[in-house]
Amino acid sequence: MKLLVIGCGGVATVAIHKCAQNPTFTEICIASRTVSKCDALAEKLRPTTKAVITTATVNADSLESLTALMNEYKPHTVLNVALPYQDLTIMDACLACGANYVDTANYEAEDTDDPAWRAIYEKRCKEKGFTAYFDYSWQWAYQDKFKNAGLTALLGTGFDPGVTSVFTAYALKHYFDEIHYIDILDCNGGDHGYPFATNFNPEINLREVSANGSYWEDGHWVETKPMEIKREYNFAGVGDKDMYLLHHEEIESLAKNIPGVKRIRFFMTFGQSYLMHMNCLQNVGMLGTTPVEFEGREIVPIKFLKALLPDPASLGPRTVGKTNIGCIFTGVKDGKERSIYIYNICDHQEAFKETGAQAVSYTTGVPAMIGTALVASGVWSGAGVYNVEEFDPDPYMDMLNQYGLPWVVDENPVLVD
Ligand code: NDP
Repeated sequence: MKLLVIGCGGVATVAIHKCAQNPTFTEICIASRTVSKCDALAEKLRPTTKAVITTATVNADSLESLTALMNEYKPHTVLNVALPYQDLTIMDACLACGANYVDTANYEAEDTDDPAWRAIYEKRCKEKGFTAYFDYSWQWAYQDKFKNAGLTALLGTGFDPGVTSVFTAYALKHYFDEIHYIDILDCNGGDHGYPFATNFNPEINLREVSANGSYWEDGHWVETKPMEIKREYNFAGVGDKDMYLLHHEEIESLAKNIPGVKRIRFFMTFGQSYLMHMNCLQNVGMLGTTPVEFEGREIVPIKFLKALLPDPASLGPRTVGKTNIGCIFTGVKDGKERSIYIYNICDHQEAFKETGAQAVSYTTGVPAMIGTALVASGVWSGAGVYNVEEFDPDPYMDMLNQYGLPWVVDENPVLVD
């Protein structure tokens, strides 16, 4: 099976390592903006795998560049691990060239000042009640196009979204008749030793964290100020951490796909140093996405900040500690209320030893490979646009154990109030 991977950053590095270990993928082309990164990874992996690995340069913002590459390479499936800005262009290219599509993050507009985009965004804010810059409407709108083409688009197969959504489908299949409450807890207990750095793409990360929070309750969105809701939780393998309620994309798809759910919340842990730096950068305008004039040229503040911050890919060797990500479910089974907690613990240094990337990239890259393999092998099949919780979770859960992200079910968890 011929796979085209687009992007060669932290997540892609892990996903491609894992694809090279999976015999489903007999040919892999790594294509990105900076081909030297693809060449270096291909060279490292070739002695370890039977898969034939090639590389290419591609501009994933350009339909022309994508279709030129895809018409030549003729992939069966495309794994998009570039940036959310490129989701729609890559989906269009897949439709034009007859390939399945897989990604880990939903579409975001790069230019949020574009009046055409803004008009649609403001209408959606009013109709749906949350103000995040990203939502699934753009990609769900491709449903008929993928159906008519007989192709599969699998959205959001990272950890969150991705594994958290598969945990939900698994809990519903094996532990509940109905799930009423879902709390998704994302804890990073890793320490990279810098006063401030982001674990994945700074633009995407800082936009997400500095935005309003929101959760789903009784059929509608409840929006909060950034970091307004704080809880403390004792995480297995990590210890006590402060966590804050954020808007997160899987809330939107789980609210649609899990019948009877009453509330879905998402919490992420942050240290005081991270929050202090982020607030300060926001207050001085460094998180802005609108170009500003500086000494005769235009610069985008957040892009300039990205150039100053440590490259997330460089954090691997220095990050120690563990991540613990999972979901607490409360619902009913045979008329009785019950709660369970399904989670994975991942060690930064072990992830680095295996792939050269830290656990945040590892916990995203492994599930990116798993979702891609299930689509590529036809175990998950169907024409149209799907979120991961719409398929049978069992083969995915087995592959998490097999490929380095073993999970635990705690049938007596401490709940979040
Ligand atoms: P990085 O910034 O490390 O990597 C992005 C890669 O995409 C780089 O190789 C970059 O090239 C390439 N790229 C960017 N723009 C283009 C373009 N126009 N054309 C071709 N290639 C391009 O990001 P990450 O690896 O950290 O993240 C990858 C994806 O994973 C993101 O969409 C992110 O949102 C998602 N993610 C999902 C998570 C989940 O749990 N679901 C968690 C973490 C991340 P270059 O090397 O030239 O910069």
